[in-house]
Amino acid sequence: MACVLCGDQIKTGSTMDDKRGRPAIFLDLNGTLIDDSNESITEPVTVKSFLPGVIYALKRLQNAGLLFIITNQSGVGLGLISKEDADRLVLGVNKVLESMEIKITEIFTCRHARRDLCECIKPKPYFLLKAQQKYGIDLSCSFVIGDHPHDIELACNAGCKGIYVLTGHGKKHRNEVKIPCLMFNDLQDAAEYICKTDNQQVSVERD
Ligand SMILES: [Mg+2]
Ligand SMILES: [Zn+2]
Ligand SMILES: [Zn+2]
Repeated sequence: MACVLCGDQIKTGSTMDDKRGRPAIFLDLNGTLIDDSNESITEPVTVKSFLPGVIYALKRLQNAGLLFIITNQSGVGLGLISKEDADRLVLGVNKVLESMEIKITEIFTCRHARRDLCECIKPKPYFLLKAQQKYGIDLSCSFVIGDHPHDIELACNAGCKGIYVLTGHGKKHRNEVKIPCLMFNDLQDAAEYICKTDNQQVSVERD
């Protein structure tokens, strides 16, 4: 059997029946899910810490794929915040989301400063490749959503679709986004788009 597009032979049999990997949505934390102010880091995380519409958006998004949070907490590496503060923030976020019945499959945190030249800082795809292996994610049908050009570069480096949101630092860095990507006002609009596309794909497959 040949591909109708390129003419290449397609392997039949078991490969054809293999399930595609699962889609995932990789979310940035600061400026995308929660307010990006440094003062908020020592305060306990509550529902109010989340940007408007984020909880609703996540409830919708978890039907479209596994949710992950990928965050650079470079403040730790720079000595601006303690590791404990960064961990408390991340755990607090997860706890609130859990209480709202939103399941984050895993939160990946890089605590290094960029000058440390670590392997895990965004836009390096390290954590996404880890998620791919660990959870059988199909990166090509997955999304990265964030308010920083690094998040879009991350999507590009990992072969995902990038969505830039204009919350957090989004507006400020808008002109620095050099890679073509989708742009939305906030996570709620991004979720709307993803869920719509998702449904369309499903209906096409059913036809
Ligand atoms: Mg951010
Ligand atoms: Zn790192
Ligand atoms: Zn910024």
